[in-house]
Amino acid sequence: MKLLVASNNAKKLAELERILHDAGISGVELVALKDAPAYEEPIEDGRTFADNALIKARAGVKNTGLPTVADDSGLAVAELGGMPGVLSARWSGRHGDDAANNELLLAQMEHVPADRRAAAFVSVCALVTPDGQEHVVEGRWPGTLLREPQGENGFGYDPLFQPEGEDRSSAQMSPAEKNAVSHRGRALSQLIPVIAALAGACPA
Ligand code: IMP
Repeated sequence: MKLLVASNNAKKLAELERILHDAGISGVELVALKDAPAYEEPIEDGRTFADNALIKARAGVKNTGLPTVADDSGLAVAELGGMPGVLSARWSGRHGDDAANNELLLAQMEHVPADRRAAAFVSVCALVTPDGQEHVVEGRWPGTLLREPQGENGFGYDPLFQPEGEDRSSAQMSPAEKNAVSHRGRALSQLIPVIAALAGACPA
């Protein structure tokens, strides 16, 4: 079975590949967006991670006819009512400017005491099939917001995020350490039974 991974981030496809491999699932050929027939990607104008993940997965099915998995993720800060949330990548107003996003978030949280600095990385993955089945799963990685950046690994808000049970930021963890516990892995793992059932229903 071919399964489109509707993302331009090669690491996401590699992570799903690893999770499927570890779960012993064969017969699933992951197709990267760059290897699928080109189509105009939809505007991610949803209010929630689930809305955006579904927008991307439905567009994949519509344009390629393949079952499609898509994810949307970000940092949810309780004190900010769950924001940056779906605006994580462009919190400062400039899409993908990690340094500016982090600086603004730190300034907004400057006077917030330790007991109100709860935050979580959230990943919502949607799997949509050509016959209209829609599966949505969520992975959360809880922690707290630091007061200054720490560490060089990762991307985005990693230098500001201290996972629960850690005394380091997620930017001080190795990629393998982070993958083993992160929000994305927690979400993708929940799709394993769905993907296994689909692969069984339509063998390669
Ligand atoms: P995307 O959905 O993977 O494109 O992520 C959207 C935004 O959420 C990113 O640009 C980051 O700002 C933030 N984000 C999502 N996952 C992570 C993570 O694992 N570490 C740091 N930031 C993240």
